[in-house]
Amino acid sequence: MSSPGSPDRSGDGRWDGEVDVAVVGGGACGVMTALRAARDPDLVVAVFEKSTREGCNAAISSGSLAAGGTRFQAAAGVDDSPQRHADDILRASGDEEWRPVVEALCAVAPELVEWIADTGYPIEVGMDMPRAGMSVPRLHSDVGRLGGGRLMRHLTTLLEAQPHVAYVDEAPVVDLVDDDGVVTGVVVEQNGTLQRIRARAVVLAADGFANDPALVREHLADLGTPFYGGVSTSTGDALAWAVRLGGRLRNMGAGLRSGLVVLDHGTRVSPALPFNGAVLLDVEGRRFVDEESKGYSSMAAVLQQQPRERAVMVWDAVAMAATRNSEMMRDCLAAGAIRDAATLPDLAHTLGVAEDTLARGLEPLPGRRALTAPFHLAWVTHGLLATQGGLVVSPRGEVLDAAGRPVPGLYAGGGTACGLAGPSSDGYSSGNGLLSAFGMGWIVGNALAAARVGT
Ligand SMILES: Cc1cc2nc3c(=O)[nH]c(=O)nc-3n(C[C@H](O)[C@H](O)[C@H](O)COP(=O)(O)OP(=O)(O)OC[C@H]3O[C@@H](n4cnc5c(N)ncnc54)[C@H](O)[C@@H]3O)c2cc1C
Repeated sequence: MSSPGSPDRSGDGRWDGEVDVAVVGGGACGVMTALRAARDPDLVVAVFEKSTREGCNAAISSGSLAAGGTRFQAAAGVDDSPQRHADDILRASGDEEWRPVVEALCAVAPELVEWIADTGYPIEVGMDMPRAGMSVPRLHSDVGRLGGGRLMRHLTTLLEAQPHVAYVDEAPVVDLVDDDGVVTGVVVEQNGTLQRIRARAVVLAADGFANDPALVREHLADLGTPFYGGVSTSTGDALAWAVRLGGRLRNMGAGLRSGLVVLDHGTRVSPALPFNGAVLLDVEGRRFVDEESKGYSSMAAVLQQQPRERAVMVWDAVAMAATRNSEMMRDCLAAGAIRDAATLPDLAHTLGVAEDTLARGLEPLPGRRALTAPFHLAWVTHGLLATQGGLVVSPRGEVLDAAGRPVPGLYAGGGTACGLAGPSSDGYSSGNGLLSAFGMGWIVGNALAAARVGT
């Protein structure tokens, strides 16, 4: 596939290699696209990955997969469906215009989660993973709750076993090649050399732009100066190339935020804590929000408005027992990010607040359980994990131009495409990120395998 590179991006029309499918980015969307496309043994697929040393968001994610209507839910007595899943997402986002894409992704979600399980990955539905806006338990996770790193290692190992797929690491794509608006390949940089790789289909799976300060300033200035909790590779590389070819950007002001980032540590406490009685208090020990009413992304904006952009989350042994079996709480404990207070006076002393104010702050809201000493606590602030705005795509993953026509040969998924949060970060539902990425990888990869990309 590769030969000594051409000196510049135009390459005087010469190609240095040829594949059927070139995938830009070897994270969640890219690996799934390649795995599904590779079911056609006549397709040659190359995944060009900027750097696995720097990593992808999928590998540092919690690995929670949202899917409605799986056999795991059925076995647990959960009545769910792709339609209910889509309706929940759209209720949170308010983005009805995006319904066809949301419904397409929710439709394939059960199949893809069950397929991952059938490849030997231990999956269960997280009955202990309630989330705001999720009308039934719908997040699926690995048994043992080790997070996205384990999942990505599993999928990448499957990919490596495919004889006609090349996963090329330390090989950032730096541009697209087109012939009068028809995408015909990519320009890849390897060892300081540029190579033009011809491809019948190019899939942009390079995630979003959360680590590009200029783009974040341009589109997400209202977030202030959040802690950044994503990977360094999310620099929005693919967006400008696609826009040059007529692609459109949408919902660029939306992000996946978290209001659960532990100050000075960068770990996150479990989003299930509020559903187990945990309360959020301001710097004076007063409660300021119904913790269950907000998803972790919309909670970020609430914390941003608090004095010193912080709050303390307080919980007890019961809440700890219900949540500690997650990679998030394990990370917090390992980092020393959780402190303890034996009694209410101890807690007031630790927080530097008046005991009577604190006692009022800890009073349970109607229908909620009361916390009992001893207590656990963590100071939390708001963070940005990933962006949710991106390229307008069809429900089949085709990149669309302003007239709604596909840019020939070009597909996008995951964080490179417009996500499911709608115009604001408040509309993000838990599990949307990997649903967009794996879901669109599934859809595009299957279509490429079925169609043999136009041959
Ligand atoms: C801390 C954290 C926790 C999360 N938890 C969850 C969760 O539990 N559930 C959920 O649904 N979502 C979660 N998310 C969101 C989810 O991880 C992302 O939405 C998802 O990984 C996006 O998939 P992707 O394939 O678009 O990008 P990624 O998985 O980030 O992969 C993109 C890949 O593209 C590569 N790349 C970038 N530019 C180039 C280039 N020019 N050339 C070649 N390669 C390139 C990158 O190196 C990277 O490997 C979480 C995110 C974070 C940060």
